[in-house]
Amino acid sequence: MKTKTFYILLLALLVVIPLSAENRTQIIAHRGFWKTSGSAQNSIRALDLANDINVYGSEFDVHITADNIPVVFHDDKFLGIPIQTSNYEDIVSYSLPNKEKIPTLEAYLNKGKLLKTKLIFELKTHATPERNREAARICVKMVQDMGLQERTEYITFNLDAGTEIIRLAPDAQVSYLNGDLSPAQLKEAGFTGLDYHFDVMRKNPDWFSEAKKLGLTINVWTVNTPDLIREMADKGADFITTDVPLEAQSIVSQPDK
Ligand code: MG
Repeated sequence: MKTKTFYILLLALLVVIPLSAENRTQIIAHRGFWKTSGSAQNSIRALDLANDINVYGSEFDVHITADNIPVVFHDDKFLGIPIQTSNYEDIVSYSLPNKEKIPTLEAYLNKGKLLKTKLIFELKTHATPERNREAARICVKMVQDMGLQERTEYITFNLDAGTEIIRLAPDAQVSYLNGDLSPAQLKEAGFTGLDYHFDVMRKNPDWFSEAKKLGLTINVWTVNTPDLIREMADKGADFITTDVPLEAQSIVSQPDK
């Protein structure tokens, strides 16, 4: 009888412990862990460093060049050269602030394959609806060809790109960034989550509970101050995207007040 009670208690613990860990807000390093020596936003080094500090995921931005090479970079222009209307060879000779070349998506994912952190893939908006869908096709194919479907979660401001990713990768986590759709509208469009600016969530406080009821994940960006990190975690954000991942991890791992 004692043995049976022991096993029931053990089983209960095994169920409860992962559930409580899962309920805690998780941290995503915005453009990798870049606010540290030798790193740079969206560099392969920043991805590697994000993995080293055991964050849930490392976010990065992807544009497609005119000759259809996906590259990892945030702004529309790299050192004044417009990425989406230039060929890859026009930008490859220049370096990021940490002396890395601008990473191709292929090189970035090759590094990601060796790591554990989730790859939070932001597909940037391109010039036309058709080009947005084409960008989605190029990117989803590369992720699938490299066997990274399970490790990759997509985010985008662009509805055409988002719905194309959902169509091509129906099992993927796909969240919408633009803040103009309600949780119900996102669910209807097939998204699995919202990934909104914290001000959008402050203006629409009901969206926390509405998203949860619909089974959508909640991610907020870019949450960089201790008070705001605490506020968003307390309101029930599943994920916080931040430029200060170490500090954010420390804050969300503290017990609630
Ligand atoms: Mg981004």
